[in-house]
Amino acid sequence: MGRRTANRKRAGRRTVNRESELYAAIQVNVTPEPASKQALIDFMKRYRHALNHSVRVIVARKALSPDKAYQLLYRELIEKYGLPGLCAVACYSQAIDIVKSWLNSPQRGKKPPTVKRLSMVLRPQCYTFKDGKVELIGGYKLTATSWDKRYDSYPNGAARLVYNKREDKFTLHIFKHVPKPPKYKPKGVLAVDVNEKHIDIGNSSGQKRVETPIDKALHYVGLAEDLREKYHYKNSKGYLAWRRRSGIYRRILYFEKKAGDIIEDWARKLTHDIVMEAKRKQLAIAREDLTGLREHIRRLPKSHRRALVWLGYRRLAFWLDWEAEKNGVPVIVVDPAGTSTTCPRCGTKLVEVGYRRFRCPRCGFEADRDTIAVLNIEKRAMSKLWPFGFNKVWTGR
Ligand SMILES: [Zn+2]
Repeated sequence: MGRRTANRKRAGRRTVNRESELYAAIQVNVTPEPASKQALIDFMKRYRHALNHSVRVIVARKALSPDKAYQLLYRELIEKYGLPGLCAVACYSQAIDIVKSWLNSPQRGKKPPTVKRLSMVLRPQCYTFKDGKVELIGGYKLTATSWDKRYDSYPNGAARLVYNKREDKFTLHIFKHVPKPPKYKPKGVLAVDVNEKHIDIGNSSGQKRVETPIDKALHYVGLAEDLREKYHYKNSKGYLAWRRRSGIYRRILYFEKKAGDIIEDWARKLTHDIVMEAKRKQLAIAREDLTGLREHIRRLPKSHRRALVWLGYRRLAFWLDWEAEKNGVPVIVVDPAGTSTTCPRCGTKLVEVGYRRFRCPRCGFEADRDTIAVLNIEKRAMSKLWPFGFNKVWTGR
């Protein structure tokens, strides 16, 4: 799978975990009233013109602060582009974000980017969404046809309205504020050890193993790759055939999306189960820091497999942290260095005595690599939770 696919944001649920607030982005399919549909599209086109104009002005005048952008653009966006005041603010703010990410991109071109999609940012004051009815600033009314109703009771944050011309569909992406419950005091640790082919979950009282879907996802990446290879010739105008032929291109995208979805759905479901188990037993979840895992992945040969393994690790860590926050479960991130090669009893470096089996030359402890990793992650998390010793805390009560 290409980098593009791995990085492409998954349509549907998207979530953000900031220090103080938790958001879930839900996708709502919406239909405007037939009579006002064209007017809405025209409104979105005006917004897009205004946005591209703002990007150029911000670059030319180096107006990266909201104050300066306001001075330069606010009046003009209202008078020349006919945007309501709140939309004008959303518009130049979005333009600032676009320019900032363009400036931060190491592969940026000479010209600032031009927005081609019809996509409009809506501040919370610019729309309402209730009981399946959406009303936008300017009086546009839309009916929601499908959305994730689990977040209905949470307040609406900023949103983005997108019109897909090819499919003639409107979608509203709404950020929902998700309340963060207080975290409980853990009674122990549930360690999660991530591997290429399986995940080990447990602690010194027991462990279980869950397979990863890497091979299943890889199958779809392979199908996409076969198509790319089969149609990897250029036509008379120099375009690659797989890019030129929309049917082929769509199938390639479908297979790549399928691979990403397999990983995403697995990560989401597995982390939910892990978090529920930790909550039931009132344990803290411990996982390794991903920066160390990146080293481990660098050692894998450069391949689609490596890209998928990395995607799986990232999504698993992301959803683990997110689900835990949502459920008030504490998460402890530990240093991954040597978790599978150090004796969890006495800290001595282990020697390999068989396939993935290790023994401690000092105390004689022997186990397989994954058991050792889980025990070490548990131990490291315990020492972070109770730096003066687990027993001291408990006898001290
Ligand atoms: Zn030992």
